[in-house]
Amino acid sequence: MAVRKILICGDPVLRRKAERVREVDDWIRQLLDDMVETMREAPGIGLAAPQVGESVRCIVALEHTEDKGEKVYKLVNPRVRGRGGEQTGYEGCLSLPTLHGEVTRPEWVVVSAQDESGQHVKVEATGLLARCLLHEIDHLDGVLFVDRAEPGSLKWAVPDEREEDGFRWEPAPLEEVMAAFERLRRRQAEQEAKSAEPDPAGEGP
Ligand code: ZN
Repeated sequence: MAVRKILICGDPVLRRKAERVREVDDWIRQLLDDMVETMREAPGIGLAAPQVGESVRCIVALEHTEDKGEKVYKLVNPRVRGRGGEQTGYEGCLSLPTLHGEVTRPEWVVVSAQDESGQHVKVEATGLLARCLLHEIDHLDGVLFVDRAEPGSLKWAVPDEREEDGFRWEPAPLEEVMAAFERLRRRQAEQEAKSAEPDPAGEGP
């Protein structure tokens, strides 16, 4: 397993409609395992394949329950078959670091998918898991939570030493947020280009 790089908002892969998986093979199983490791390391409770640069219909999610402990979902070609009710709450995304926004979604969903062995499975979810699955399935269609967030509810964490948690929440106008992520993406690309250059002082082949 390997931790993969998480793409930041602004990367075109995040806006592409992901391809259906024709066969659940070793490549897909490896991808799902890597996604789980990447999600845990982040840490997050869900991740979609486009977020690690693979435009295929795979998602992973984590559920914590009092009685059953932790459950990991690895879903291939997930589809929402039923939904109902309504819940409103704050959401974030590993591809939009530090940003939160209020999103209204169905309270429960029924999702059909294939598991990592290609078997057809049905997941019935409520509350946070339902929200998480819908958020990840949105990623497969190039939809980000900011597209659904209540206008004016976006806020982001700004470092602030005076605060107990080391940051404070500030309202985040969408254009400002997008420009900030673009700068972050550019910085990351520059750093990657630099670390890919051969070290002039190194012994080199
Ligand atoms: Zn997300």
